[in-house]
Amino acid sequence: MYKIAIQNNETSEVRIASYDLDWGKYFFYFWVDGNMGCDCNRHLEFGRAKDPKFYEKFPCGSHEKYSALYAELEDGTKIPLDTATDEEYYDLINPEGG
Ligand SMILES: [Zn+2]
Repeated sequence: MYKIAIQNNETSEVRIASYDLDWGKYFFYFWVDGNMGCDCNRHLEFGRAKDPKFYEKFPCGSHEKYSALYAELEDGTKIPLDTATDEEYYDLINPEGG
């Protein structure tokens, strides 16, 4: 299980979304530069963090409305997402060290 802190940048409200999956090494990419980096998907996850039945379309392609602040793993480890420094980003985006 892992959690993602998603912030609505317009209101600064942060919600914690929980996922019944183990964190994998490509999840940083997935949440920062992959599909979950897009506001359309973050809009759904932010809504569902409060109401699991939330559904509302949000236009694809923007990256300003929501921030994924960090992932929190089951052991309490926090992994920075949009908040990663350049150095952290480089290490996290290249999980093989390449
Ligand atoms: Zn999208």
